Amino acid sequence: MGQSVWIRENIRQIPETRQLLIVGEDITETHLLAEQLEYQAHYDGLTGLYNRYHFEQQLVTALKEVKGNIRVHALFYLDLDQFKLINDTVGHEAGDAAIVYVAELLAQLIPQKATLARTGGDEFAILLRDCDEEEVRQFAQSILDAFNQSQFMWRGIHFNLNCSIGIRKIDYTAKSVQRVNAQADTACHLAKEEGRNRAHFYNGDDKSFRHRELEMACVNQVHDALANDRVELYAQPILDISSSPSDKLHFEILVRLRDKNDKLMSPGIFMPAIERYNLAHLIDRQVFKQTLAWFEDHPDAIDKLGRCSINLSGQSMGDKDFIAFLIDLLQNTTVPTEKICIEITETAAVGNMLQASQLFTRLKQLGCKIALDDFGSGLSSFAYLKTLPLDIVKIDGCFVRDMHQDEVDYILVKSIHNLVKQLGKQTVAEFVENDEILSCLIDLGVDYAQGYLISAPKPLAQLVEEFIPQPASSYLPDNG
Ligand code: GH3
Ligand code: MG
Repeated sequence: MGQSVWIRENIRQIPETRQLLIVGEDITETHLLAEQLEYQAHYDGLTGLYNRYHFEQQLVTALKEVKGNIRVHALFYLDLDQFKLINDTVGHEAGDAAIVYVAELLAQLIPQKATLARTGGDEFAILLRDCDEEEVRQFAQSILDAFNQSQFMWRGIHFNLNCSIGIRKIDYTAKSVQRVNAQADTACHLAKEEGRNRAHFYNGDDKSFRHRELEMACVNQVHDALANDRVELYAQPILDISSSPSDKLHFEILVRLRDKNDKLMSPGIFMPAIERYNLAHLIDRQVFKQTLAWFEDHPDAIDKLGRCSINLSGQSMGDKDFIAFLIDLLQNTTVPTEKICIEITETAAVGNMLQASQLFTRLKQLGCKIALDDFGSGLSSFAYLKTLPLDIVKIDGCFVRDMHQDEVDYILVKSIHNLVKQLGKQTVAEFVENDEILSCLIDLGVDYAQGYLISAPKPLAQLVEEFIPQPASSYLPDNG
């Protein structure tokens, strides 16, 4: 009683009579469902604010409006600072309540001419229409002030919430929704880098923006290379320079990516981008999988192999899924695991000693060797060497590169080497670029040398195919 329903009516004349047949169908449920779908398409379920889809539609219109060069708008991109802390310390329910709290705080601040949306996890966006630079600055400041002056409370605990804001002016320079979104996002990242709880304006001439944009383009290329099998394995030999050298091949795998135009991308650009956007585990996954698969397909190469070193990034080391994947791979490969050495940088290992120690122990149980990479470049406490279950220490190239002409570097390499040997581990010197350095290393008794003097990185298959055991003396001038 008293309830409205939606009826679809169908009226037909009954043939050869003057009567009409009216059939009414109750479509209330379908109608409500359609309304609900329409709502979900435009609104965020948690906060009731507009969602990203709706916001981007508004942006499309906004971009058209500024073409005439008369109107100017501004896009604000907000990301809460250290929001994970709330989830981690008091749980997701509190996190959700904090997001709702922020939505209400922002909704009270925005003027009529603005559109506010929740565009993702802890991200909000505001389109402020018809504004000049002063108004934009004032509005950004009013958001920061509102956050600083209020507190979110959860079960009696107060939390100071803050946000970082990226601002992109929407004027004739705005090319597309995708570009302005990315530019506002970049500005927001820079606000975070500058210390959080602040706003950063997009400026196309700014070097840091150009660098960020290059990195972002690079991230897309990395995804593309991963999706299209354009990850290539290169390898750089590691020469045994000890007094009783092995005649087996020893090298480090170095990843290379090809772009759409078949050109190799520079690791100097893609590696930092990968780290910044947390993609290292995807690359590591592919490199481990591809390397072991290559050897499984080339049993002759396994016979020639002394040791194959593969890098593991600090990010992957902290990724449970990745570690499970790696252990499974190592447990099931036909490649003898004692021929696999896993290299982890000193900074990554020292950054999380307990995790590193547990992982190294597990990998050693599986038969693998462990190398600490770039030793000396990070926090370099010799005490770490004692604590971590390591087999090899790679002395950072920055000490090796000039050791033949810089006494301090020479002494550093010597002391690192002596200490490592005392602990019963082996040493590798990186950046061996001339015969004088190699002579110094042989005199000191360093176990292995790696660098351009011995060989530049080559495609893995080529390196294995061309391999002929060579004594260290063949790289010294007297022996040609
Ligand atoms: P930063 O200052 O660098 O922004 O650090 P952050 O901790 O805020 O991290 P980031 O912005 O990268 O990640 C946002 C986190 O918000 C990720 C996720 O744990 C959490 N999150 C995303 N959506 C929701 C949600 O709907 N509810 C809750 N409770 N948490 C969410
Ligand atoms: Mg955040």
